[in-house]
Parts: sequence; structure tokens; C-alpha cells
Amino acid sequence: MGLNMSFTKVQNIYSPEEFKDEIPVRGELKKIKAARDEELKNVITGKDKRFLVIVGPCSASDEDAVCDYTYRLAQLNDKVKDKLFIVPRIYTNKPRTTGEGYKGMLHQPDPTKGANILAGIRALRKMHIRAIEETHLTAADEMLYPENYAFVDDILGYVAIGARSVENQQHRLVSSGIEVPVGMKNPTSGDFSVMLNSIKAAQSGHTFLYRSDEVSTSGNPYAHAVLRGSINKHGQLQQNYHYEDMILLADMYHQANLEFPFVVVDANHANSKKKFDEQPRIIKEVLHSRKINSTLSNLVRGVMIESFIEEGNQKPDGGVYGKSITDACLGWNDTEKLILHMAENV
Ligand code: PEP
Ligand code: MN
Repeated sequence: MGLNMSFTKVQNIYSPEEFKDEIPVRGELKKIKAARDEELKNVITGKDKRFLVIVGPCSASDEDAVCDYTYRLAQLNDKVKDKLFIVPRIYTNKPRTTGEGYKGMLHQPDPTKGANILAGIRALRKMHIRAIEETHLTAADEMLYPENYAFVDDILGYVAIGARSVENQQHRLVSSGIEVPVGMKNPTSGDFSVMLNSIKAAQSGHTFLYRSDEVSTSGNPYAHAVLRGSINKHGQLQQNYHYEDMILLADMYHQANLEFPFVVVDANHANSKKKFDEQPRIIKEVLHSRKINSTLSNLVRGVMIESFIEEGNQKPDGGVYGKSITDACLGWNDTEKLILHMAENV
């Protein structure tokens, strides 16, 4: 590589264009994506009154189980689509607190084996495109590595910036050039102003280095907030979905003068204190808070749920079909009940 660094080149990775030629999104699916992108933008701006539900496993480690899950979601979507806008979570990049553990399909297309990023990019494009083909739903994924967004910019309907990335300048700058809604999480410290600064940066235009080009962007007006709870200096998890938290954020959001204020509450992670089965209760509390306060019903217009076919989680080599190998998830039956409840109560 000609760099004075202790890197060893493992293999060459093709350009995004080459992957797109090899594993393309065909004409019909491009139209489906364009229509969904428009609808989701209308949900964010408030033109479309539906409530956003981003739901699916913590990590999408097994194509068959993920597509089985998204197919169930699509069937359920037929019953609730007048009230809810469902976006499957198909997350192929996993941030790790200490760098250890399963890093997602991008790194490990087979979670029981070592890294193979070339095979990983192929596998994740194939899985995302299959899910769109079978369900006509475009998915959310986390942009953990901004330079890798170029491999999936023709596929994703929603992009999440994780709690560990939201303070990073490159994530903010790249978000400013993304054409679909970007959800920016509060940082692990819980500081709302960091999240709001990140949204401001993403909503503004910038000039910067992206891959091998100097590029300029015009800003992403659909960048918005995602509350996921936090961790304090004692290592204790703290929630931020309660009424008072959301009122505080409403005030700060208003002060920040941003376009299209919009908040998603992530019901898992620090908000559930990692207890996946608290998610239905948390979402019901959020729906109640919205009912009794019009500022909140105008602002808090989405939730994120970690859910898979089987509830709980297992080790990467656990072998149970449809069970998370990262954060513990709600099972399918409880997810279905919760989504039907939400459709009746938003
Ligand atoms: C996730 O959504 O699985 C995740 C890792 O979220 P966070 O960035 O909030 O920890
Ligand atoms: Mn998770």
C-alpha cells in the first residue's frame, strides 16, 4: 500500500460501482425505493401523519432468517399501513464497545468464522436487495463507517448514526449528503446538545474529502433525533424516554432552530437497560406521553424496536434460527401484538 503504517493488505476491495454492477438493484425495485423514499420524507416533514416504526434484529447475521422476519413484517404491514410506516432494521455493521465481538455481516458474512470484507459486502447487498424484492419494504442500516455508505446508497431507506459515532465529524459531513432520512442518536453520555449539534451539521452543506474525491453537499433536512438512553460515570444505564426527558428535548430542539424537528424513541439499549421485554411497556408510556401533550405528539413521531423471530439472544455459534447474536430482542409474537397495539393507539 506504500504507507508508513503497520497495515498488512489482506485483499483488494472493488469499487462501489463494481459491486453495484455485480449485484444490482433492478428497475422495478428502484421505483419501489424511490416511492418509499418520498413517503418517508413526507412522514418526517409531517405531510404524512403516519407513525414511524423501525423494527428488526440488533444485527442481521443470517440472510434466510432476516428475510423470513421481514416477510412477516410485510404481511403485518398490510394490516397497519394506514397508521404506521414500517422500516425493517437490517443492520450489517455493529459498533463494539471494546472492539471485541461480532462486527456484523460486513466483516463476517459467516458469524462463526473470521473476517472477509469482500464477501461481506456481497452478502449484505444480496440480503438487502432480496428483502426489498420479497417485501417491497426498504430497510434501515447503521452507517458505522461513512466511507462504506457508497456500497449501499442505492439500497437503504433510512440511515442511523449510532451513539458512539454521532460526535464524529466525518459521520456528520457524510450525513449532510445522504438523500434519505438520517436518525442521529444521543451519544452514550446522553448529552442532547451533542445530538442537536450533529443534526445541525447534517442539515448544513459542507465541502470535504470523501473516499478519493473532494465533494460538496447541500445538507440533509431530514436528519433528526433518536433517543436511546445513556450511561453515566458510574457505569449505570439511564433512560431518556420519560415525559420530562422528551419535554426537555422539545425545548432544546425548538431553541436549536432546526428543520423538521422529529424524534424517534429507541425502546431498547440503555432505555430498556438491556431488558428487551421492557420494550412494549416503554413504547406504551411514550404513546401515553404523546396523548397528553400536543408538543410531544407533534415531535415524537417514531419508535425503534429490537425484535427478531425468537426472543432473547445467543452466542454467535448458538445455532438457533431467528435469534439475535448481539443485543437481546423481542420475539415475533410479542412484536406483532405491539405493532397492532400501536396502530390502534397512535
Ligand atoms: C443498535 O442500534 O443496535 C446500536 C448499536 O445502537 P446504539 O448506537 O444506540 O448503541
Ligand atoms: Mn442493538
